[in-house]
Amino acid sequence: MAETNETCEECGAKCCRYFCFEIDKPEDFDEFDDIRWFLCHEGISVHIDDGDWYISIENRCKMLKEHNTCSIYADRPVMCRKYSPEDCDFTSGDYGYEALFEKPEDIERYARQVLGERAYETARAKAYGRRKISPKRRA
Ligand code: SF4
Ligand code: SF4
Repeated sequence: MAETNETCEECGAKCCRYFCFEIDKPEDFDEFDDIRWFLCHEGISVHIDDGDWYISIENRCKMLKEHNTCSIYADRPVMCRKYSPEDCDFTSGDYGYEALFEKPEDIERYARQVLGERAYETARAKAYGRRKISPKRRA
């Protein structure tokens, strides 16, 4: 954010209200299910950008003052210094995500596509600790 800037005021200091970091790309049911668990929580989203996976956590910075200004502007962390209204996501209007997952069902749908329905169901049954009962045995 800029110290005083019309655009930052107008945007409401979006970049000071969340943080985001890279996570491992999920490869199997367990890893997809961990992401499903993340997404069961308020304020969490996961996205893919240039093939890399990120988790975003909505959480207002404690240094943000009223009127959307920074209380430690002169000493703000390097991460904040990299963010400026000239080239931030807000002003570019393009977050450029390949995929955005906001709800548990979003990542489940994606995992079923990537792993395949059958593999997903089998892995889920195993992970949930249920024995698969064949149709023959059920009869
Ligand atoms: S740098 Fe961009 S996202 Fe951050 S407060 Fe300014 S306009 Fe908003
Ligand atoms: S330290 Fe200041 S610039 Fe950085 S996120 Fe917090 S309020 Fe925003």
